Amino acid sequence: MSNDALSFVRPTPESPWGTYLAQVDRVIPYLGPLARIADSLKRPKRALIVDVPIELENGTIAHFEGFRVQHNLNRGPGKGGVRYHPDVTLEEVMALSAWMSVKNAAVNLPYGGAKGGIRVDPKKLSLKEIEKLTRRYTSEIGLIIGPQQDIPAPDVNTNAQIMAWMMDTYSMNVGATATGVVTGKPIHLGGSLGRVKATGRGVFVTGREAARRLGLDLNGARVAVQGMGNVGSAAVELFNQAGAKIVAAQDHTGTIYNAKGFDLAELIPHVRETGGVGGFKGADVLGNEEFWDVDCDIMIPAALEGQITVARANRIKAKLVLEGANGPTLPAADDVLASRNILVVPDVICNAGGVTVSYFEWVQDFSSFFWSEDEINVRLDKIMVDALKRIWALADEHKITLRTATFAVACERILAARQERGLYP
Ligand code: NAD
Repeated sequence: MSNDALSFVRPTPESPWGTYLAQVDRVIPYLGPLARIADSLKRPKRALIVDVPIELENGTIAHFEGFRVQHNLNRGPGKGGVRYHPDVTLEEVMALSAWMSVKNAAVNLPYGGAKGGIRVDPKKLSLKEIEKLTRRYTSEIGLIIGPQQDIPAPDVNTNAQIMAWMMDTYSMNVGATATGVVTGKPIHLGGSLGRVKATGRGVFVTGREAARRLGLDLNGARVAVQGMGNVGSAAVELFNQAGAKIVAAQDHTGTIYNAKGFDLAELIPHVRETGGVGGFKGADVLGNEEFWDVDCDIMIPAALEGQITVARANRIKAKLVLEGANGPTLPAADDVLASRNILVVPDVICNAGGVTVSYFEWVQDFSSFFWSEDEINVRLDKIMVDALKRIWALADEHKITLRTATFAVACERILAARQERGLYP
């Protein structure tokens, strides 16, 4: 009786929600009797669109579109980041929230999937305007977030300061300090040690395990990275410490290359101070499209979605692709990479380190007992390695890609929870 397609999105094979739907279709044959209820994965539970008006410093009033989508709450409260970007749409936030459902289930965290965003170019706003935007957005989505309902975190162009404003706004509205409403907060406001670098660390841990399976020695391995933000820079630092050379980096300011490897002690401060890799002295400049032809062993897309198209997948020289970003590979490109024997560690496990340490932060906030950075890193490593083992075993059993195996493990957990809870009313 239900309509097949949702009326409020028009997914295409290359759009984020279209990509997600194709990924779900691929996993249905591995879900056994639970496939009967798999349609619930193709519909977000709840999507809130809010108007975010703020008075700019020049006295005019600007309106921005804000979103919070809770894709699936079968296994616990919603969990997922908030993105500030001019290209944010409802469709994108839906897909990102669905990938959070899969990711949280894949590493077996007691969370559902959610995501939020504001369609804004934050580079065009002052810090004061970003604070107003954040506070108004938080108030508007306050209807559906909360430490037990849905817990936002940082994503593209949002950071610990923005989480502090979100926490403060929510707390003012409910009349009590509620540190557990967001994660990725500053340390002295209930944040967790290790959170800032956790996503990059998870990319490294899954990459290290995958390299071991491939017989690829990290010592001397050549790495190319797209995105030198929170995720990309933390990941390449760890690969560099393990002996790998970072030979190419691309971000919104350009593409740089050095066959001998960059000196990260110079590159990372350069990115922090100037806002990007552009203008870095210790490297040659490449055209942006040339990034995909670079001779390397490991490629880490850690910027935005939809980057690895079929054409680019045919050119990539790496043996291993580590998806630091969410949704960087289009489904048709995934097939090309598989046919070329390029191993892809998919986003839904590869970048799950961030949400895992977010979970640690939330647990620490509830118990008001804080762990050491070593404890956090050791627990993170174990959770990621155990999750990957289970996924790899399923991939080997059915001869399927790691992406399909991760979706199979995760979707089974999500749908089993639905089955056990039953359909309300
Ligand atoms: P960030 O804002 O810190 O960095 C984004 C990076 O992408 C920057 O280096 C920017 O220059 C680059 N970039 C933007 N547009 C680009 C373009 N057109 N071409 C090339 N590079 C471009 O964001 P982040 O937190 O590092 O997130 C990066 C990706 O990782 C996103 O897909 C995000 O959803 C995903 N992710 C982040 C976390 C986290 O904890 N931060 C967790 C899981 C997944």
